[in-house]
Amino acid sequence: MNEQPRAMAGVIKGARQALVAAHYLPDGDAIGSTVALALALEQMGLEVTAVNHDPVPRMYSFIPGMERIKRPQDVAAVPGLVILLDCSDMERPGRDLKERIQESGAIVVNLDHHISNTGFGDLSWVDPGAAATGELVYSLIREMGVEITPAIATALYTALATDTGSFRFANTTPAAHAIAAELIAHGVDVVRASLHLWEEKELVALRVLGAVLPTLELAAGGQIAWMYVDLATFTALGARSEHCEGLADYPRSIIGVEAGMFFREVEPGVVKVGMRSKTYLDVNELAACFGGGGHQRAAGCTVRGELQAVIRRVVGRAVEMLCQATGEKWTGS
Ligand code: AMP
Ligand code: MN
Ligand code: MN
Repeated sequence: MNEQPRAMAGVIKGARQALVAAHYLPDGDAIGSTVALALALEQMGLEVTAVNHDPVPRMYSFIPGMERIKRPQDVAAVPGLVILLDCSDMERPGRDLKERIQESGAIVVNLDHHISNTGFGDLSWVDPGAAATGELVYSLIREMGVEITPAIATALYTALATDTGSFRFANTTPAAHAIAAELIAHGVDVVRASLHLWEEKELVALRVLGAVLPTLELAAGGQIAWMYVDLATFTALGARSEHCEGLADYPRSIIGVEAGMFFREVEPGVVKVGMRSKTYLDVNELAACFGGGGHQRAAGCTVRGELQAVIRRVVGRAVEMLCQATGEKWTGS
């Protein structure tokens, strides 16, 4: 069990510089893991560059050290060691970073918890049993003997709290709670973190919710539910991707619904789909049918096509999978 963190710690200890990155449109696990590992490597004397394809969403601005995450265009050169966090494949960091990493010939380390992880990289440690990539970063940091400062603790707590939906989802394990307890003991301001993560939203996020709720539809006798937003509505509201955080949870929250989905037209002819299920529908498998992935209860994909056509295809496949899983017979959406 300790093999992989030990091997990873060995590679890191032999390096002088490293680049740390996570997936595009970063969530709390991506940001928290990036910041925590960057601060830890710096404590060990490495020169660290932290980068993300997209800007840090405002809800994570309370994490000390988040301001050090640069955009790809601000990174002059890719060092010899690249650590990718919370990425299930080499596409997830974003096309520009992927190309620059591959052209550089750097050693690529893959640290992740997605069941759909392809095992890419020169060294990989993938544990689908981990609640968040932040949990693996915590173990790695412990292995390397780094001191857990309040900043590192806050970043890792954010990773765990967000990926578990505030310790509610199926990935909430005794380990997740034990690590969270340890992090709180190392200086997390839980009230402040909760305020930023759950209790305060930008006005535009509520306007998006208001626009999206009337689009709610159900299929398969009320077991599949979804909502959507088209590009014109999204743009008119002045919304950004982060304002759609958690929207797939609304259709899923309906009694009797097994899987909830949220469709967003991100550019003409391109639709991002967020999927969440409750007990048996494997949304990782559903997302994989459309080139995406994730976890059994939370997954996503990006599909080419007109918004309503994409909705019909994805919902149609979800209904088929539901029929296979339950032996029921539903047709159409
Ligand atoms: P989201 O709905 O964007 O919050 O994503 C839910 C889960 O699915 C996360 O674990 C993501 O990493 C994963 N995911 C979302 N979109 C994709 C994609 N296009 N490819 C692979 N995994 C994805
Ligand atoms: Mn993530
Ligand atoms: Mn994650």
